[in-house]
Amino acid sequence: MPPSISRIVQALEPSATLAMAAKAKELKATGKTVYDFSVGEPDFTTPEHICQAAVSAMQAGHTHYTVASGIPELRTAIAKQYLATHGLQYAAQQVVVSNGAKHSLHNVFTALCNPGDEVIIPAPYWVSYAELVKLTGAVPVIVPTDETNNFKLTPTQLRAAITSKSTILLICSPSNPTGTMYSPEELGELADVVLERNLTVVSDEIYERLIYGNHRFASFATVRPSMQDRTIVVNGASKAYAMTGWRIGWTLSPTNVATAMADLQSQETSNPSSISQYAALAAIQGPQECVSRMLAEFANRREFVRQRIAEIKGLSCPDMAGAFYAFINIKAQLGRTYGGTRVDNSTQWCLALLEQQNVATVMGSAFGAEGYARISFATSLETLKAGFDRIEAFLKSSQP
Ligand code: PMP
Ligand code: GLU
Repeated sequence: MPPSISRIVQALEPSATLAMAAKAKELKATGKTVYDFSVGEPDFTTPEHICQAAVSAMQAGHTHYTVASGIPELRTAIAKQYLATHGLQYAAQQVVVSNGAKHSLHNVFTALCNPGDEVIIPAPYWVSYAELVKLTGAVPVIVPTDETNNFKLTPTQLRAAITSKSTILLICSPSNPTGTMYSPEELGELADVVLERNLTVVSDEIYERLIYGNHRFASFATVRPSMQDRTIVVNGASKAYAMTGWRIGWTLSPTNVATAMADLQSQETSNPSSISQYAALAAIQGPQECVSRMLAEFANRREFVRQRIAEIKGLSCPDMAGAFYAFINIKAQLGRTYGGTRVDNSTQWCLALLEQQNVATVMGSAFGAEGYARISFATSLETLKAGFDRIEAFLKSSQP
């Protein structure tokens, strides 16, 4: 008999974003051209000066364990960046560098949650939040938000979700999967409820550098004077610097939380890769034109995606203020037959689209919102053009 798996891991859902990306790769391996809008990762290569810094780090012998919470130079550089961009004062000891922001989130929940604690997560939410919370024995409390309010949690909805067991509110802005973003004022109103009810905020700010047009970003820690003491900021190198494979994420938090996470990490994974840390240091300290260049390219693709969605009858999506996702409403497309297959939910829709048109997207149900599908536009305009033509053909092929 094979060993049995723990109850807590048995209850874990695998990441749907990574599962759809794997399906797309499988299909590609059979020789098919696949229009892959599944995974959210910049398609650009990591900028050259960052790669060079990694080479130099190896040559200089930075190939050993580092302090578990990260090299002091990187932690200082991250703290300085938050001071320069948001006016927030953090000591280097309040910064913990981990193996990607996903790992940072795991550290945060493990450090803060006791079994039975409730973590409030507005839906649609990024696939990993609820699972990472469940791993700690805490309970994700999913609060659906409204498309007519751009999928943003209102103070009234937050108040209604709070119980005596609530400990954390999770906010992701700009949002994966919807691309919408809270204004500083909207965050301030949520912060008032947080302060009144003594909650902690976990603020996932990983798309902070990918914001379009005149939308204004505020770090949650800045929106009320005392919020910094109640906020754990999560951020990382993956999205802004096209560094997904390097696995570097970080948190900025009150000292006791940072110390707890550093201790946890020292037993869990030790330090994130020494070489990646030096690369991330070069990313933060080096020229930032690479970020603006990639943002300009994302902005072109966003405009294309926005126009195509507006043109295609029966599709809509909220305004994308940031990140690189369109969260399309497919409610009118369900209950129809595509190539002889009846499609009743977002999983069936995404699978039929992949099978019939080789277009990979992610089902809304994985983000806690049935009736939607997520399109990542972190891919070339050429792929987007061909993929959208196929989505249009797929919709046209459907029968009532
Ligand atoms: N938060 C959000 C909202 C994300 O979209 C991602 C992307 N996977 C992450 C965290 C984690 O990023 P990474 O682990 O690559 O730093
Ligand atoms: N954040 C990306 C996504 O949502 C990367 C995949 C993942 O880690 O979930 O597609």
